Amino acid sequence: MKLLEGKNVIITGASRGIGKGIAQVFGSHGANVAFTYSSSEAPALELEKELSEMGVKAKAYKSNAASFEESEALVAKVLEDFGGIDVLINNAGITKDNLLMRMGEADFDSVIEINLKSVFNMTKAVQRTMLKQRKGSIINMSSVVGVKGNAGQANYAASKAGMIGFTKSVALELGSRNIRCNAIAPGFIETEMTEKLDEKTVQGWRDAIPLKRGGSPEDVANACLFLASDLSAYVTGQVLNVDGGMLT
Ligand code: NAP
Repeated sequence: MKLLEGKNVIITGASRGIGKGIAQVFGSHGANVAFTYSSSEAPALELEKELSEMGVKAKAYKSNAASFEESEALVAKVLEDFGGIDVLINNAGITKDNLLMRMGEADFDSVIEINLKSVFNMTKAVQRTMLKQRKGSIINMSSVVGVKGNAGQANYAASKAGMIGFTKSVALELGSRNIRCNAIAPGFIETEMTEKLDEKTVQGWRDAIPLKRGGSPEDVANACLFLASDLSAYVTGQVLNVDGGMLT
């Protein structure tokens, strides 16, 4: 059964990793997928082609999620190209890890702007359309680190915790208009983002996971599929951990 047949979806940061996995799973469920990247044009165009070959409408857009103006222009362009927006997935994110002692102001600011302010930018930009259609699902890609904290990631953890507060507030504000807003908190998911970690840290994460493995982009995408589709019609304001039991 295709769960998103004909739905129009925007995903930020889908040129690789979790965003790409979401685009692939959503495409296989019949969704039309508009997605962004910041610099990886070649893989983004490859994904656009792969999705189009599945028989859905797909388009890659270069857009910096941290920019309010670019996000507004992106949403206007997607509305023109796709004719509507049913689902927004705020997935774009970066890390700039360091102990607080060594963390510079620029490392704090860029992580907050790309991970957290982007969520404000994009949610605000799609809000009017979703309000008019009296339906929508917004999914914010937080992290277990936003729930629990992590040494060396004060900037990242603050951005991800901020996303949870934002998610719950938007769920309260927009619930009466049938717009749902939920967060996903992935644990250790094997992507380019986690490739940067040293082996000792990675082993530490794996040892701490009850399911004894890192997650895949598809594991996260399947949780997104639930939150994007009508299967979760009565679910809003929640944080769904996709972490192999890490926070249990
Ligand atoms: P990734 O492999 O590093 O991919 C990040 C994606 O975000 C890329 O497509 C990148 O595009 C895009 N991006 C970066 N800056 C952007 C910007 N300013 N505007 C638009 N797009 C931008 O990361 P990932 O592991 O898939 O992570 C995806 C999300 O899940 C992030 O929010 C991350 O914090 C969260 N998460 C990941 C894990 C994990 O273990 N991997 C765990 C918890 C949460 P370009 O290549 O063009 O820059």
